[in-house]
Amino acid sequence: MKSDEVNSVLGLAYRDTPTIEYPCATLIQTLMHDISVSREVDDIVLDKFTDYIIIELEVTKSAFWCYEKNLFEKLIFDSEVFLISHSEKLSDSSNKLINDCIELLNFLAGGQENWSSLPNKFKDFEDMQFCVNGNKEIRIDEFFRNPNVKCPSCSHEFSQIAFDVVRTIFAVRCPKCEQSIAR
Ligand SMILES: [Zn+2]
Repeated sequence: MKSDEVNSVLGLAYRDTPTIEYPCATLIQTLMHDISVSREVDDIVLDKFTDYIIIELEVTKSAFWCYEKNLFEKLIFDSEVFLISHSEKLSDSSNKLINDCIELLNFLAGGQENWSSLPNKFKDFEDMQFCVNGNKEIRIDEFFRNPNVKCPSCSHEFSQIAFDVVRTIFAVRCPKCEQSIAR
């Protein structure tokens, strides 16, 4: 199979790291795409994890978001827990990419001024090309287009991407009754 055929089968697209407005957050999202592209086996848990990180960072790019160190600390914690429980099943390159992401999240947690820059160690990434998982991109776009969900317990309808809504890798919590809803 030619490489462009392989790409269309997997739904891949290439893109340069867009580094203009949110270089660090965008690089983490790109690395998360790369992890799900380079994995050897289908892994729903890995997909959920990478979706989660991409979505959380996408929410921070909203014009209404105010810098919160806590969010990055939460993502670092979740990533470390994920690595501890899954690192044996992941390839060396995926392990390395997740560790790079943790380092970049630490940089973002370091202060609001880091929001518009990249750590020196990652400056070379600006010129790199990465693979983007097209299916993942479509799924996440769809999530942002239709973020509303109705709580099965209290029937409250809410947007899953609202700032006051708590999201985890596997669930979203109803802001009214605190019921965890799987996603
Ligand atoms: Zn509810």
